[in-house]
Amino acid sequence: MRRSFKFLLRPTSKQAVALVTCLEDHRQRYNAAPEHRRIAYAKAGVSVRYGEQSAELKHIRGDDPGGQGRWSFSSQQATLRRLDKAFRAFFDRVKTGRTPGFPRFKGRGWFDPVEWPKDGDGCRWDSQPEHPASTFVRLQGVGQVRVNQHRPVRGRVKTISVKRQGRRWYVVLSCEEVPAEPLPPAGAVAGIDLGLASLATTSDGAHVADPRHLAATADRLATAQRDLARKKRGSTRRRKSVARVAALHAKVRRQRLDTAHKAALALVRAYDVIVHEDLRIANMTRSASGTIAAPGRNVAAKAGLNRSILDAGWGVFLQVLAHKAESAGRELIAVNPAGTSRTCARCGHRAKDNRVTQASFACTACGHAAHADVNAAVNILRAGLALRDAAQAA
Ligand SMILES: [Zn+2]
Repeated sequence: MRRSFKFLLRPTSKQAVALVTCLEDHRQRYNAAPEHRRIAYAKAGVSVRYGEQSAELKHIRGDDPGGQGRWSFSSQQATLRRLDKAFRAFFDRVKTGRTPGFPRFKGRGWFDPVEWPKDGDGCRWDSQPEHPASTFVRLQGVGQVRVNQHRPVRGRVKTISVKRQGRRWYVVLSCEEVPAEPLPPAGAVAGIDLGLASLATTSDGAHVADPRHLAATADRLATAQRDLARKKRGSTRRRKSVARVAALHAKVRRQRLDTAHKAALALVRAYDVIVHEDLRIANMTRSASGTIAAPGRNVAAKAGLNRSILDAGWGVFLQVLAHKAESAGRELIAVNPAGTSRTCARCGHRAKDNRVTQASFACTACGHAAHADVNAAVNILRAGLALRDAAQAA
């Protein structure tokens, strides 16, 4: 199993300056590369590829030992590979006739992470194991940076990345061969319905995680973005506004991940089998069935950005849930959610009128009344178990 671990860095002020420079120099390498490709193509009709750019990097480093030359060759190569990938994706889109977005110039503050593709090559995790109380990561050109390691790292560290979110610095370890940690059987199964009032509602009637604080941050972010749009380019106020938007984005990401971890952990502890909606199918039906003026059940009143933030929350949540389920030895099943919100979980009667309001369900055939999300979750569970039976019979 692969897993990643993310920790807060506690650089000294001198190291923080070095980190900024490191990120900035990598950003410049990233930005110079397309220009180099473009000029070579315009002047000589030559397509420059990763191999040539990597070779050129050697010269750049040799000419600038105190600048570009002070960073890890491997992390700079990783940056060029990332650009190469962006170019390939661009040409693939051109080939398939889709509207291509040219690989973007990365502005200040929009480039990260810096990745070291191999532990021990220009970087070293746990570089001072003899230190009794702290963990350090050594980064070439930056030094031994203290890490706030709040939980153990398992598996073998493969890549090390550093990124900035708002004013904080983080190190992300991508680990391989992470051992699974199976949980004892829980003796229960559940379907879950993804929603806005609760991130997930189980078929047992439990509401897991209240994303309201996330919605509140989303509101503040929307306000900050409107505010930013009114600021004059190049002004001090605009710079401050940009920083504020970035900080709120970072906060949304943190809250989303935190909510997802807590909710997923609660679910894998409580159930052996968890059935959820297939989000790829769900999103299609959702966009078709709700508008801002006449909201379907998943359209937030605050609309737009707010909604997209919560939508992204479901994706993150299901990813985290998948990881945890795999690690705990739990079974996860995705089902097509069509009809699950308007079908009666007791008698199977399927009608739009069953759905009285956003929150309540009342069957027009048998009179069964329930919380709408719980009713949907029961249907989702049933669909999942049917799929499972079919698969086992086959
Ligand atoms: Zn009914």
